[in-house]
Amino acid sequence: MGGVTPTLFVISGPSGAGKGTLVALLRERHPGLGLTVSATTREPREGEVDGKSYYFLSDDEFKRRVDAGEFVEWAEVHGHAYGTLASEVSSKLASGSSLVLEIDVQGAFQVKERFPDAVLVFIMPPSLEVLSERLRGRGTETAESIELRLANAEREMALADRYDDVVVNDDLDRACDELLAVIEKHERN
Ligand code: ADP
Ligand code: 5GP
Repeated sequence: MGGVTPTLFVISGPSGAGKGTLVALLRERHPGLGLTVSATTREPREGEVDGKSYYFLSDDEFKRRVDAGEFVEWAEVHGHAYGTLASEVSSKLASGSSLVLEIDVQGAFQVKERFPDAVLVFIMPPSLEVLSERLRGRGTETAESIELRLANAEREMALADRYDDVVVNDDLDRACDELLAVIEKHERN
C-alpha cells in the first residue's frame, strides 16, 4: 500500500530539447533519483568533468569496452560513440532508488529489450524553431554540429510515439512538474 518501486527511467529527446536542464531540476525536487554517467568518445566541452559529466574515452578504449561486453547499450550519435556501462546501472540500482538514463533513441530501445520494465520518457521541444534557438543559445556547438543535431532531431521526434510518456518542454517549471508526476506515477505502479 502506497509503496514506491525503484524504477529504471530512460529519458530521450533531441539535442537541445532541455533534457539535462530538466533532469537537474527534477533531481532537486526528487533527491533520491539516481543518474548514470555515460561514456563517450566526443571531446569534453568547457566545464565538463571526466567521471561526472561523462567518462571521456578514446575511440580505442571505447571499442575495447564494447568488445568486453561492458555496455548495457551503446550507439553512434551525432558522429560519436555514447554508451551506458553495466557497472553504472548495477551499482546505482543496488542502492534501491530509481535511476535515470539520459540517452538517445537507439540506446532507449536497447535498454527496453534488456530491461522490459524500464519506462521510456520522451522530452519534446515545443517546435523545431525553438529547438534551433535553444541549441544556438547554449553556445556549446559549432555551426556544423548544430546542423547535424537539427537534422537528427526530426528523425528522433518521429519515434516519440513508441515511448511510454511524452513531456513537452515549453515552460521549464511546468514541464518539470509534469515529468515529476510521470516519474511518481510509474514508481507507484
Ligand atoms: P539537452 O540536454 O536536451 O541537449 P539542455 O538541457 O542543454 O538540452 O538545454 C538546451 C538549452 O536550452 C540550454 O541553454 C538550456 O538552458 C535551455 N533550456 C532548457 N529548457 C528550457 C526551457 N523550458 N525554456 C527555455 N530554455 C530552456
Ligand atoms: P551531448 O553530446 O549533447 O552531451 O549528447 C548528445 C546525445 O547523446 C544526447 O542527446 C544524448 O541523448 C545522447 N547520449 C548521451 N549519453 C548516451 C548514452 O550513454 N547512450 C546513448 N545511446 N546515447 C547517449
